[in-house]
Amino acid sequence: MATGNINVTAENIFPIIKKFLYSDHEIFLRELISNATDATLKLKHLSTLGEIKGDIGNPIIEIKIDKENKEIRIIDQGVGMTGEEVEKYINQVAFSGAEEFVEKYKDKVEDSGIIGHFGLGFYSSFMVASKVEIFTKSFAEDSKAVRWECDGSPQYTLEEIERGERGTEIVLHIDDESLEFLEDSKINELLNKYNKFMPIPIKFGTREE
Ligand code: ADP
Ligand code: MG
Repeated sequence: MATGNINVTAENIFPIIKKFLYSDHEIFLRELISNATDATLKLKHLSTLGEIKGDIGNPIIEIKIDKENKEIRIIDQGVGMTGEEVEKYINQVAFSGAEEFVEKYKDKVEDSGIIGHFGLGFYSSFMVASKVEIFTKSFAEDSKAVRWECDGSPQYTLEEIERGERGTEIVLHIDDESLEFLEDSKINELLNKYNKFMPIPIKFGTREE
């Protein structure tokens, strides 16, 4: 008899996540909005607990489409990430910063509203994008902004950038099989389907709710 650890390599698991994890490719938007929502809720909770200096204002989530360049951007003004946090939460598939936050603050924050759980949702973006970029700056004092890029292979790049504002911008470079998501009507349809009654306002074009 033998026992051992099953070994999963990124090369094997990536195509599975990309193609088969979710039956419906359209849920990428719901997943990215839930991450933006979580990041903003974390900011609000930390502010309430006195862990953030100054006024956080009224953070919103914004969605922008650039048809010509085949890009969708999901922009939030939430907690953002440091380079180390990108390494920890993004580069480690199936490690959930949402779950970690809920665990850490379970005695201080009642019913956090945090949505994330399994640490997989972000990778659903590769179901519709041939390349994904993250531009992010943490709320933590003196933290440097970073840019992460990945084309869906297990290789990524991470570099320091100049960015003034706190929060995260996800840029999806939409692949040729997914061009329908560059239509305003499609995005509006998905927002109506998955993102009614969200705790943080979502702005898309002239729409804000
Ligand atoms: P989950 O949401 O289930 O934790 P995801 O794969 O969707 O898993 O995201 C992994 C982690 O990456 C999140 O838990 C969070 O720590 C971090 N993250 C993702 N998107 C953002 C964002 N917009 N702002 C800040 N952190 C983020
Ligand atoms: Mg998530």
